[in-house]
Formats: sequence, structure tokens, C-alpha cells
Amino acid sequence: MSNNTKKPEADYSFKHEEDRPDTRTCLSCRTTFSSEGWGNRLCQTCRSRSSSSMAA
Ligand SMILES: [Zn+2]
Repeated sequence: MSNNTKKPEADYSFKHEEDRPDTRTCLSCRTTFSSEGWGNRLCQTCRSRSSSSMAA
């Protein structure tokens, strides 16, 4: 019998340690806000503002 099974390693590498809800500073207005995770660097005000202004 071949016992060739690889030991499954916990694959946490895809998850950045900062990819979690935390308090961050808005990149736009420097307001401290509750971030939903990695990629969420703007406060609600700036996010809604940027998404509403779709002008090229
Ligand atoms: Zn902001």
C-alpha cells in the first residue's frame, strides 16, 4: 500500500492579517472609521461620495 498522502496544511496565506474588521483612518478625509476589512480604506462618507460621482 502506498502511503503517499500529503499532510494538509492550513492555508491561511491567502488571508492577509489586516483583512479583518478594524478601526482605520480614511485615506481621503483622515477620519477614523470602522473598516470592514482589507480594501476598505475609505470611510462611509467618502465611499458614498466617490460612488455617487461617476463622472469620468
Ligand atoms: Zn473619509
